[in-house]
Amino acid sequence: PAFGENRANSMGVNIDIESQWQPFSESVQKFMTKTWHKGPVISGQQVETEKTVNVHCPYQLSELAGCLHYAGEKEVDQAIAVAHKAFDSWNQTPVETRAQSLEKLADLLESNLEELVALCHKEAGKTIHDSIDEVREAVDFCRYYANQARKKFSAPQIMPGPTGESNELYLTGRGVFLCISPWNFPLAIFLGQVVAALASGNTVVAKPAEQTTLIAARAVGMMLEAGIPGEAIQLVPGEGKDIGHQLTSDLRIAGVAFTGSTQTARLINQTLATREGAIVPLIAETGGQNAMIVDSTALPEQVVTDVVQSAFASAGQRCSALRVLYVQEDIADRIEDLLVGAMAELKVGNPSLHETDLGPVISEVAQKGLQAHIDRMKQEARLIGQVDLGAECNEGYFIAPVAFEIESISQLDKEQFGPILHVIRYKASELDKVIREINGTGYGLTLGVHSRNEATSSYIEQSLKVGNAYINRNQIGAVVGVQPFGGQGLSGTGPKAGGPHYLYRFATERTRSINT
Ligand code: GLU
Repeated sequence: PAFGENRANSMGVNIDIESQWQPFSESVQKFMTKTWHKGPVISGQQVETEKTVNVHCPYQLSELAGCLHYAGEKEVDQAIAVAHKAFDSWNQTPVETRAQSLEKLADLLESNLEELVALCHKEAGKTIHDSIDEVREAVDFCRYYANQARKKFSAPQIMPGPTGESNELYLTGRGVFLCISPWNFPLAIFLGQVVAALASGNTVVAKPAEQTTLIAARAVGMMLEAGIPGEAIQLVPGEGKDIGHQLTSDLRIAGVAFTGSTQTARLINQTLATREGAIVPLIAETGGQNAMIVDSTALPEQVVTDVVQSAFASAGQRCSALRVLYVQEDIADRIEDLLVGAMAELKVGNPSLHETDLGPVISEVAQKGLQAHIDRMKQEARLIGQVDLGAECNEGYFIAPVAFEIESISQLDKEQFGPILHVIRYKASELDKVIREINGTGYGLTLGVHSRNEATSSYIEQSLKVGNAYINRNQIGAVVGVQPFGGQGLSGTGPKAGGPHYLYRFATERTRSINT
């Protein structure tokens, strides 16, 4: 698929082709022995602070990914001040210059693929396929938003008017954008937010997730190399509980892009709503309680392939991931049998090995929370199947992929961000009840439908309040410029990332009316 203009999406490397895999793997391995030392980046300079933390590999806790300096109150204040002062100059930089520096960044990301993949393994525990896709998506965001900025910001839109009057509408940056990004897409979502803000003329203060700041800091290095001025992009590593409030309550912040939990999005919204000063936008992309509905006309083998990918890829740590599978009772036994067989094939372990399907989850807190839910489900639900973990998994934060059959979605109190699938049987006559239940969760991110009856699939798709519906396929892995991504309700505010309307929310509109 192409962006509809001059460039196609990033190709990456096809590791299933031996001649591509060998040299690629050798260069990744060279970076696997490296450790990265990073910290706040202010005015293009890396700053050393007193608060340092060691970053351990989530699949092998005795191994270090690197060391990180956290930003304190002083660095946060400096970062905002620098970005605030630089706004006019960056906003007045020609759109073409801004777009070209983002395209240069895309090229640099591609030429540093192996190092970025090693960072994805070591810091985030991402598998090889996921790590390559991560870099590809980051590259796609840079090129896509560069093109969108050219289209939308280069020239004003001419509006009608009487003779002797010229009317124009144009877009321009808002000021300093605060970008707060999650650990599950540590490069792609981090850069997606930041380059959208920069393309639109804003300067940026970025706070990446504390679990995955090394790769974000490495990307900032590449941004500077690509010619983005050090004053336009500031990086402030740290924990939300320490610096989050200072960042969101600062009146110099003119907008916030956030991806993370619904609860944190609400907190940010509250802070923005009650602070003095300008009323500023929040772009929030949050969680989901994503369902797939499978009716009796579906092809069981295809269903199970798509279910396994949707529920267990990336160890279930995608906000798009499938959590609740509704299967019409006529084919439920068949689907569950096939599911048990497919799960037995899954290989969980060291993410840097070619054969690994699932790596670890991100942290001890995540692992404990998921394990507590699994323990509860073992009491309350019927176990369909669980993958066996090898001894090597004792060294890290692993969770064995598991599937349970439950009675009702109301047994799930919140999103479980890991490889846990819940299956519910329904009767054909209960389809409307199923739709009501799913809508009743209040979340609205992704939906999967498997049916060969077009009337049914279109009825389901139209009835569910979601942002991304996937029919007769898996429900993860939205492609930039192809499947714009984002939800509604408890799942976020929109606009959709990787879509043609995303940049509007980063900009402000102005009208110029001249008596000629
Ligand atoms: N865009 C990703 C996907 O389609 C999910 C993003 C997220 O987890 O935040 O799978």
